[in-house]
Amino acid sequence: MNKTEIKYYLIMAGSTSHMLRGDKLLKDKAVGTSLVPAPSEYGTVCATAIKVKIEDKEISEKILRENNITIEGIYPDKPRRLAGLVEKLMDSVISPEFMEVLKKIEDGEDLKEQDIVLLLSTERKAEKEALFHAADRMRKEIVGDVVDIRGAVEFSNYCRKDCRYCGIRKSLDDLNRYRMCEDEIMEVVHHLHEIGLKTVILQSGEDLWWTPEKISSLIKRVKDETKMNITLSIGERAKEEYELYKNLGTNNFLLKIETTNRKLFDFIHPDDDYDHRVKCSSWLRELGYLNGSGNIIGLPGQTVEDIAKDILFFKEMGINMIGIGPFVPAKGTPLEGYPQGDIEMTLKAVAVTRIVCKRVFIPATTALASLDPDGQTKALKAGANTIMLINTPAKYRYNYQIYSDKNMVDLESAFIAVEESGRKMPPYLKVKREDCIK
Ligand code: SF4
Repeated sequence: MNKTEIKYYLIMAGSTSHMLRGDKLLKDKAVGTSLVPAPSEYGTVCATAIKVKIEDKEISEKILRENNITIEGIYPDKPRRLAGLVEKLMDSVISPEFMEVLKKIEDGEDLKEQDIVLLLSTERKAEKEALFHAADRMRKEIVGDVVDIRGAVEFSNYCRKDCRYCGIRKSLDDLNRYRMCEDEIMEVVHHLHEIGLKTVILQSGEDLWWTPEKISSLIKRVKDETKMNITLSIGERAKEEYELYKNLGTNNFLLKIETTNRKLFDFIHPDDDYDHRVKCSSWLRELGYLNGSGNIIGLPGQTVEDIAKDILFFKEMGINMIGIGPFVPAKGTPLEGYPQGDIEMTLKAVAVTRIVCKRVFIPATTALASLDPDGQTKALKAGANTIMLINTPAKYRYNYQIYSDKNMVDLESAFIAVEESGRKMPPYLKVKREDCIK
């Protein structure tokens, strides 16, 4: 490998807490970092590495060692090539233009918007298969075969906003609103901890009843009682609030952009401002969160070019977790009568996102599972590497349907998707498939 091709190094710390402390220390000393999934060949399963520029490698190592951060290893972030990709496909019916883009992928070159549009637009069977094959190889090279499993608890369906696509939007009158209390949430968190999961996703509508004090108290309990990683998904909040939750130990934050087409963003989000949403995402990145975003495929009026721009946005913003789901019309919303998003386009978007953004977490989304019983398996074969279980207690679940007929992804369906896609469950999981057969 040509040494000049290496632009970044990946620092593997001795534990999650060392990784997080180390990342903060580096940021405080103005070293640019991002948190990325560790390469499969170096890391423990889906562990997170600190990525620094080549010119910051030495100073980063010095700062970390001086502050007693255990370093397991520092590795070059190798450019990812898919050797032999094009040769293998020579006999397939693939257009010269498509082959040219595949060659760029093989050579590890950055794709431009028109390349991405070409990949997303194809309707030819052989080209689609080639795209999914390339994404699956990239996923295997970069994050390996293990699927990271996370558990979500949707703790409140109150929301101050009225997003036009959303099944818990403020103006839906005939919805039973609920708020779980801290003890109820902790009961779920303890269950997730007992079965060995490492990350809990605490998700709600934008519910200001959950004040910074209440959210802080919940974060402290999760950390004190289980030490689990926390992903917060509670919408737009003040920067100081994001900072407070980060300082209390929250690891990840999920705030989806949904679309980067401003006009479409404004149409589906009557209460939101596009620039402010992007600013919130930048704050999260600055604060050192593992930063989550994502989009909806098949929104009314959305074009393939829009989706290509979304994918480039994820790359440029350094987004670490990217949720891509099809549009699922929710009953009682202004978008109820629109057609659902196309599953195949969603899978193509997953595949291209893996190829373009490379070292990121991509969930096989519940929205996909809701439209297609094999949706998660297909997503895992197209570049996804994470599954989010829905662990909201049964009595509340029905009332947290951002879209209608939401499929409740549970451990059993996760086992099936992982098995069918020829992947591996994480070694940290303490239950076997037979333990969760209903
Ligand atoms: S998408 Fe989120 S912010 Fe918008 S209405 Fe639904 S829960 Fe509220």
